[in-house]
Amino acid sequence: MSDHLSDRIKNMSTSATLAMAAKARELRNEGKDIIGLSLGEPDFNIPDFIKESAKQAIDDNYSSYTPVDGYAELKTAIATKFKRDNALDYKPSQIVVSTGAKQSLFNVAMVVLNPGDEVILPAPYWVSYSDIVKLAEAVPVEVPTSIKTDFKMTPEQLEAAITPKTKMIWFSSPCNPSGSVYGQEELEGLAEVLKKHPNIYVVSDEIYEHINFAGGHVSIAAIDGMYDRTVTVNGVSKAFAMTGWRIGYIGAPEWIAKGCTKLQGQVTSGANAIAQRAVITALEAPVSKIQFMIDEFHKRRDLVLELLGNVNGFKLNVPEGAFYVFPDVSELFGKTLQGFTINNASDLALYLLEKANVATVTGEAFGNPNCIRISYAASEAELREAIARISKVLS
Ligand code: PMP
Ligand code: GLU
Repeated sequence: MSDHLSDRIKNMSTSATLAMAAKARELRNEGKDIIGLSLGEPDFNIPDFIKESAKQAIDDNYSSYTPVDGYAELKTAIATKFKRDNALDYKPSQIVVSTGAKQSLFNVAMVVLNPGDEVILPAPYWVSYSDIVKLAEAVPVEVPTSIKTDFKMTPEQLEAAITPKTKMIWFSSPCNPSGSVYGQEELEGLAEVLKKHPNIYVVSDEIYEHINFAGGHVSIAAIDGMYDRTVTVNGVSKAFAMTGWRIGYIGAPEWIAKGCTKLQGQVTSGANAIAQRAVITALEAPVSKIQFMIDEFHKRRDLVLELLGNVNGFKLNVPEGAFYVFPDVSELFGKTLQGFTINNASDLALYLLEKANVATVTGEAFGNPNCIRISYAASEAELREAIARISKVLS
């Protein structure tokens, strides 16, 4: 019967991050002592003040269908947040609340892309970009970067990748999986190239905005000439540890926001009522309320860099944000360890899972086959133990 599946689904990859997390869960259920560093999911509890507002929302009977584009109060809170943190003026009519930033990205793809349009993805890119673009029957065009440029795309690379079919560029900063952060000048350099190509739109995925150890997040939409051609994507999964609550949002040109609302109205309707009420509270709070999580990630980043620095065959950049390290492990390719030949990053991820009981994700899923992604959204004890195990099986 699986032959009867649509070509769309047959041709789609399974999300590698979710697949690895499921595999780790399965092995754990079989009794194996797996340390999961595959999923980008904060290990903190949601701050109490946010939980309290969700409980209040239940008691206040927020139980009906919500407006398709989000509660007016939430859109006002998002507009205020964009102004406060990003120097961006979005009217409520430019904001759409969705069931996670993943749905926001999907909406934008469906609303802006036609079959055959090209979308530039500086690689490594977040795992789902490429499949979402393909679902819109558009063509992902990968622009490979390497550890030498801190995994960032240069203006020259962008210029060289543009063709008459280029419709969009999608990128995240801080970047999942490399942790790289684009600064003001780097974004200005990209914007300068885009000035010559007025029909290209940008998706700026800023979901890791607050998890930035260098300080000073810059939104490309705030750069001269970019506002009318940028969709700023954000959400509460990462900074507020609210992954399961499924709220993401965009600030965008009005025509894109309207398209997303129209699409969402036929697919999911408005996002979850209780979660939206809680997110109003989350976004209205000062960033200082979540600083403890950011500080903890910073400490863990330093610890992981220090410990992984001694691991055989791992080359590291210094990620300035998010909660991943993305070591280049190509030095290990061609080696046989404990009877296991490692020809690529996927082999290594499998080897680490089987021999060290540590779940990571192959860089191939992010468009860089020389690397693996390790999430440090785990406790210090788990990180120490995991890296000791990795080190042992690679020595
Ligand atoms: N963009 C990036 C870069 C991410 O890492 C994630 C993680 N899931 C998402 C978007 C989607 O987030 P959400 O949980 O809001 O769907
Ligand atoms: N964004 C997270 C990650 O990259 C969560 C998993 C997912 O949504 O794919 O691991």
